Amino acid sequence: MAQTTKTALITGSARGIGAAIALRLAADGFNIAFNDLNMSAFENNDIVDKVKEKGVEAEIFPADVSKHADCEKLVKDVKTRFGTIDVLVNNAGITRDVPTSMMTEEQYDMVIAVNQKSVFNMMKLVGKVMIRQKSGHIINLASVSGIYGNPAQINYSASKAAIIGMTKTVAKELGGRSITVNAVAPGFIHTPMTDKLTEEQRAAMLSRIAMKRYGEPEEIASVVSFLAGEDSSYVTGQVIEISGGLSM
Ligand code: NAP
Repeated sequence: MAQTTKTALITGSARGIGAAIALRLAADGFNIAFNDLNMSAFENNDIVDKVKEKGVEAEIFPADVSKHADCEKLVKDVKTRFGTIDVLVNNAGITRDVPTSMMTEEQYDMVIAVNQKSVFNMMKLVGKVMIRQKSGHIINLASVSGIYGNPAQINYSASKAAIIGMTKTVAKELGGRSITVNAVAPGFIHTPMTDKLTEEQRAAMLSRIAMKRYGEPEEIASVVSFLAGEDSSYVTGQVIEISGGLSM
């Protein structure tokens, strides 16, 4: 482990891909600021202990990242606790999958608020911290759904396509301050989010994947680790698809 005093803030990190990213960045030597909606997300969950076993510090900061006021408190508290925010991973996300003709306004608005507005909130607030530091790496979780579309996901694909545009915009705004902003676009990854899919949806997805298997959260975390480290110092405004060849 390369020991540093750097800190990574990962939204929605109690489980799934966010938890895998926390563990990987802890192994890279980052102190970890966990976030999820509430403390109960971390009950009966050993992710914080596993991160601390890597020899770094870790603390939980509950917040609803779709709410700007929550994000203001979150960023202030993380900065006070750790001093710097060197890596921001905008990972929190939800799905409310329904065919477009049957989707309610509430289902549409909720996914946009949690997946997309949260990324505005956090890039605005952490961006200010990183501008003062003159360094930082931001990694946003997009999705193949935002690149290619996906039936019953007009809300989700809109939010993820927006994240790609937002990533490129903020990369251009912050590039001159030595801050990189990139996105990863996972395909079909084994997590509680995808456990909700039907067998039919799973089989359809698998038939389109060149590698004929689903991805694991650790396979997203390893790319995030690259984008959070100095080996990617000249990479910004990019979207890296991690899908086992779904797009070919
Ligand atoms: P997950 O297992 O559902 O985890 C998402 C986490 O975000 C949960 O712990 C959730 O908390 C939390 N969260 C939800 N709303 C929040 C809010 N308003 N504020 C703070 N935290 C919130 O999802 P995942 O599969 O790991 O996905 C992680 C990211 O990767 C998401 O952005 C997702 O869109 C993206 N992605 C996933 C896949 C995939 O195949 N899994 C593919 C492409 C992209 P609760 O448990 O309380 O809801």
